[in-house]
Amino acid sequence: MNTQFYDCHIHFYFKFPAEELKQVFSRLIQGGLMGFNALVFAEFPSDIKTVLKMVPGAYHDHISIAALEMQQDPFPYFEWAAPLKITAFADARFIVQGIEEKMAQLKQRGFQGLKLLYVPEEDTNIRVQGMEQAFGRPVKKSEEITARLIASAASQGMCVLFHVDLRRYGSFVEEMLQSHPATNFNIPHFGFSRKAIYHLLETYPNCYTDTSSLVPFMVEDPESYQSFIRQFQDRILYGSDALIGDPEHVESTQSFVGQFLDDPAIFQKLTCKNYLKFHGL
Ligand SMILES: [Zn+2]
Repeated sequence: MNTQFYDCHIHFYFKFPAEELKQVFSRLIQGGLMGFNALVFAEFPSDIKTVLKMVPGAYHDHISIAALEMQQDPFPYFEWAAPLKITAFADARFIVQGIEEKMAQLKQRGFQGLKLLYVPEEDTNIRVQGMEQAFGRPVKKSEEITARLIASAASQGMCVLFHVDLRRYGSFVEEMLQSHPATNFNIPHFGFSRKAIYHLLETYPNCYTDTSSLVPFMVEDPESYQSFIRQFQDRILYGSDALIGDPEHVESTQSFVGQFLDDPAIFQKLTCKNYLKFHGL
C-alpha cells in the first residue's frame, strides 16, 4: 500500500485533451495522493508576449494561450477526480482592475485560495521580466495592487500562496502577515532564503512554507535542509511544483522527499497534518 499524502503545490496546467485528466487522476490516486492545491490561471491577457513576461523562463516553451484557456474553468474536471480533494487557488498575477469584485466572483465560483507570483521587478534567477515590464508600473503600485488582492482574499476567508523572494521583498511580506493574522500564508520554496523565512516562521503563526522546487538544493546540502525541516516540522508543507500534466513529477518528488527525510513522523506532518491544518481542517 502506498503512503497517503497531500501536495500543496501543483500547477493545474496541461496541454493534452482534457479527457486525459481522467487517467492522470486515477494514476495519482493509486500512488497515494489524497488531495492537492491546484493553481489555476483565473485570468490572463490574450497577448502571449505579456503572459511570458510574467512566467519563469523554464516554462516558456510550454505556455500557450490555447492551454491557458483550457484550464481557466477547472471545476468540471475536478468532478472526475473523486475521491481526490482538490482546493483551487486563483492565480491573480494578471489581475489589475476590479480587484474586489473579481475576488468575490472567484470565491463564488469555488476558488478557496489566492496564488500570487510577486515579481515587481525583473528576477534574473527564475528569469521573469516582472511587473514593471509586463504592466509598466513601478514597484509601489505593484505593492498596492498586491496588498488589495490579499486583503480581498482575507475578507473572503481564502488562504494565500505567495511566491516571493524574501531577500528582496521581505519587509512587504512581513507587513502582509502582520495585517492579516487570521489568514494562512504559504511562502513557497522557503522564500528563497532560509534565514529570512526563519524569522517569519518564528514570528507569525499564520506563516507556512513549502518544499516545492527544492530537490536540487536538498541534494546539494542535505544536512542543513534536514535540520531546518526538523526544526520547523509543524509549519512546512510538502509540495512538488509539478504540472498536473506531469504526474511522474508528483510521484518522483514524493518518493525523493520521503527518503530524504528518513523519518516517517516528520514526513507525515509535511504531507498530511500540516496541509490539513493550513486549510483549517
Ligand atoms: Zn510553482
